[in-house]
Amino acid sequence: MTDGDDDSGAELTIDDEIVARARIHAREVLREHDLEIDRASLEWSVTTRARRRAGACRWDADREVATIVLTRQAYERYEWSAFAGVVRHELVHAWEFQRFGESGHGPRFRERAARLEAPRHCPTFSEPRYVLRCLSSGCDWRARRHRASKPVKVPDQYRCGSCGGSYEVEHAESGRTWTTASGFGGARAALGETW
Ligand SMILES: [Zn+2]
Ligand SMILES: [Zn+2]
Repeated sequence: MTDGDDDSGAELTIDDEIVARARIHAREVLREHDLEIDRASLEWSVTTRARRRAGACRWDADREVATIVLTRQAYERYEWSAFAGVVRHELVHAWEFQRFGESGHGPRFRERAARLEAPRHCPTFSEPRYVLRCLSSGCDWRARRHRASKPVKVPDQYRCGSCGGSYEVEHAESGRTWTTASGFGGARAALGETW
C-alpha cells in the first residue's frame, strides 16, 4: 500500500491505523532527536507475510526512497511501546540509507539507535501460542504466553495488567478466543487434535 495521507472517506483498516500511528510517532521522534530524515522520501507499508521480522527497511537506490515495512501481526501482538521501538529501529535504517546509501547494525547505527532508545537488533517476531488482549476500549494492553498458564486457562480470574479490566485470550494459530475457563475448555475441545 502507499502513503495513508489521502482521505477517501473509507473505513480505516488496521493497516491504515498502523501506518498512521507509526508516522505520528516518527514525526515526534525526528523532531525530538534532530534526526535528518527526508520525510518526502520515506514511505510506509504493512505486510502480513513476514514470518519472523517485526519490521524492515528497504532502500530503492534509483528513486532514493526508503520504505519502512511493518508487520501487522507484530502490531497486533506487541504492546504499543514495544512496537514503537520497532518503528524507531527502522527509522535509523531509513536515516542511514538516505544519508549514506547503505545501512547495517554497525557503530554508527548503534550510536543513533541508542539516542532514539531503539532496539539495537532488527526486532524479530515469534508467534506466541496465546495472546492476552484487554477488552476495555482505549486500553491496548497485550501479553503473550507460550504455554497454557492459569491466566490462559481461567482468564475470568485475572485482570488486565494495565487498567484492571477483563481480557480475552486468543489461541494464535487458530484465532479462537475465550474469556472464561469454560470458553478455554470449549476451544480446546473444538480444536481437538489440531490444538
Ligand atoms: Zn535492523
Ligand atoms: Zn486494560
